[in-house]
Amino acid sequence: MKDTTRTLPMKDRFDLPEGVIYLDGNSLGPLPKGVGDRVARMMAEEWGGHLIGGWNADDWMGQPMRVGDTVGRLIGAEPGTVVLGDTLSIKVYQALSAAVRMRPDRKVILSDSGNFPSDLYMAQGLIAQLGQGHELRIVEAEAVMDALGEDVAVAMITQVDYRTGRMHDMASMTKRAQAAGAVMLWDLAHSAGAMPVDVAASGCEFAVGCTYKYLNGGPGAPAFIYVRPDIAPEIEPALAGWLGHDAPFAFERGYRPATGVERMRVGTPPVIQMTALEEALKVWEGVDMAELRAASVALCELFIAEVEARCPALTLASPRDAAMRGSQVSFHFEHGYAAMQALIARGVVGDFRAPDIMRFGFTPLYIDAGDVRGAVDILQAVLDDRLWDDPAYRRTGRVT
Ligand SMILES: *Cc1c(COP(=O)(O)O)cnc(C)c1O
Repeated sequence: MKDTTRTLPMKDRFDLPEGVIYLDGNSLGPLPKGVGDRVARMMAEEWGGHLIGGWNADDWMGQPMRVGDTVGRLIGAEPGTVVLGDTLSIKVYQALSAAVRMRPDRKVILSDSGNFPSDLYMAQGLIAQLGQGHELRIVEAEAVMDALGEDVAVAMITQVDYRTGRMHDMASMTKRAQAAGAVMLWDLAHSAGAMPVDVAASGCEFAVGCTYKYLNGGPGAPAFIYVRPDIAPEIEPALAGWLGHDAPFAFERGYRPATGVERMRVGTPPVIQMTALEEALKVWEGVDMAELRAASVALCELFIAEVEARCPALTLASPRDAAMRGSQVSFHFEHGYAAMQALIARGVVGDFRAPDIMRFGFTPLYIDAGDVRGAVDILQAVLDDRLWDDPAYRRTGRVT
């Protein structure tokens, strides 16, 4: 299918504002062209025209599994093993609770200090709810492999650290976890759409992720969950919602889970949002993930080299070795918050993560080397001329 392969970047597939260098697609992907029209059409024809008939006529009910297969192709999951719905935090809870139930004689949920707080909070909430003496053990990222002892029920690991971009090797860690008798749960929030992922080859039991970062599904886009097909018929859903029931419209009194991953559905899917995501995923048609990764590495390497040559006040917070890094680069800077606000005011959009990290995402679908150089030109000016030193840039919004 070589002839249909898309060359990168493909900026024409996105509606990006004029004059903006968008280095925050790792937090919220931009709007792909066609999404607005598709959603407008869905509203007018499907919702407006078919009313409740849309559930069958437009297959709204099948959409979470259909879109699941599209996401599945991007993460190396077999057809029928991924379903969309809810938010990532909910999917973490569902996967984690099912995983813990698979190892009733073990009490440790292992994670690392680079994990996203919501994942850790979800584990804490689950442990309190269970009241069975479970423990959330958080170790440094480098110590996870050695911490996989006989008491670990589940290794709950986010592959790419949201702050630094430090990346775990899925295949080797999964192997190690399973050799220790633990269940492996991967969070692919910063992996899906950022690099080649092969969930099936890794052999992990569970994988979850969101679709509004590198997959450009839009704010509030539904999350995905993968359950390895051989265990899917056995796992016990903690959130026993009617759409995860084997026969929702039989309206039985008792819960009977659906046969496969569909038991991880909970309630009514967000059809408008799901439709936006389904359309957004079309930009991936013909994209070679190995090529995407090579382009991402080249952009990150160029950015590091340029920043280190021109902005000596910044120190690299990401691994220097590209093989250990996701599709983002972070730098420490004492006045990082203000500097990021100054950058954003000048059209270079990255973000800030406490306490002092300036974070830049590199998404080869719509970022090229010229953008990287242009961004560093502005960053250099912000630092050389202390443009960040302005009270306006110290004000914090509700979202940073
Ligand atoms: C972005 C992110 C989340 C966010 O969860 P939501 O429920 O979608 O708000 C959770 N975990 C990780 C690892 C993330 O990167």
